[in-house]
Amino acid sequence: MKIENYILVCILPLFFACQQKAVEKKEEKTAKNVILLISDGTGLSQISSAFYFKDSSPNYGRFEDIGLINTSSSREDVTDSAAGATAFACGEKTYNGAIGVADDSTTIKNLVEIVSLKNIKTGMVATSSITHATPASFYAHTLSRGFTEKIALHLSESEVDFFAGGGLQFFNDRKDGRNLLNEMVKKNFFIDTVALGDLSKIQNAEKLGYLLAKNAMPKVQEGRGDFLVKATDLGIQFLTKDGSNFFMMVEGSQVDWGGHANDGSYLVSELIDFDDAVGKALDFAEKDGNTLVIVTSDHETGGFTLAAKKKKREDGSEYSDYSEIGMTFSTGGHSATLIPVFAYGPGSEVFKGVYQNNEIFDKILKVTNWGAGSN
Ligand code: MG
Ligand code: ZN
Repeated sequence: MKIENYILVCILPLFFACQQKAVEKKEEKTAKNVILLISDGTGLSQISSAFYFKDSSPNYGRFEDIGLINTSSSREDVTDSAAGATAFACGEKTYNGAIGVADDSTTIKNLVEIVSLKNIKTGMVATSSITHATPASFYAHTLSRGFTEKIALHLSESEVDFFAGGGLQFFNDRKDGRNLLNEMVKKNFFIDTVALGDLSKIQNAEKLGYLLAKNAMPKVQEGRGDFLVKATDLGIQFLTKDGSNFFMMVEGSQVDWGGHANDGSYLVSELIDFDDAVGKALDFAEKDGNTLVIVTSDHETGGFTLAAKKKKREDGSEYSDYSEIGMTFSTGGHSATLIPVFAYGPGSEVFKGVYQNNEIFDKILKVTNWGAGSN
């Protein structure tokens, strides 16, 4: 073979391979399902704690596309969970305490309302009451996060197809005397107040709700077990059982409470539990191929640090032992530090960069095309 021909034979397949790659890139990437996992009150140090204190490799380590968000609310540098979650759920920064309403108190559409018009199923999982600020922002509209009974009413009237968490008292022990459990059953809900079931039991349910505590779910340290992982798994199974596509929000609610309490072991146990749920979502997304997993937080809590442990010498003088971590806190409240965003699956690359918390909403609609034709 002449040398020119030989070169051609070698180069031509490369040329076609490049062409094919360009075509593939063009027709990429609409996510069909989204799992948004929010660990309340979780900054980089909380996430880092999983790398030091979890017995197995943290699931946070499975992501390649990572960004940072500024979480400030419309009026305050330091956000609360209501404004933080409303930014994710409705795409607008609002005042601290607001649930699904704008800074001028007008109602703004949330993701559940937008996607349910397109027959996308929706699910909510939390380790707090399901009426707590983070999940509430995805289905309710109230001027204050404190209007818990109203928030429960909004859940019962919403298009949410699956929920699991605490908060039973806001449904069946209300000042207005209504029993929302009965009302929801009439709307084709299967409600369980005892324990998570398995899919065989709930296969025929149209909608499914678990209210497994009067208010918040117990701490991991007080026997919550693997509720969060199981509820995440069951939610995925339930929402996809008829071949539907879905949006699900999963909250590790109590990482925040460990931060408020300046209780390192409470915080870390909740963070590790949340990381297990992230693993469950990633396992599904890897198999499914059409599911976008986003992991982030509404803000940091506690000004948490993984400092070198302070110890005392025999003479009473203090020193920092760099061979051991001593968890420390700078506040009993929230902080304004930038918050990491991890993404995996179709469209994950748009979550890279440094941006505002409410842009998460826009990015979800963009990579799913769920926003098309709405407004
Ligand atoms: Mg929360
Ligand atoms: Zn908080």
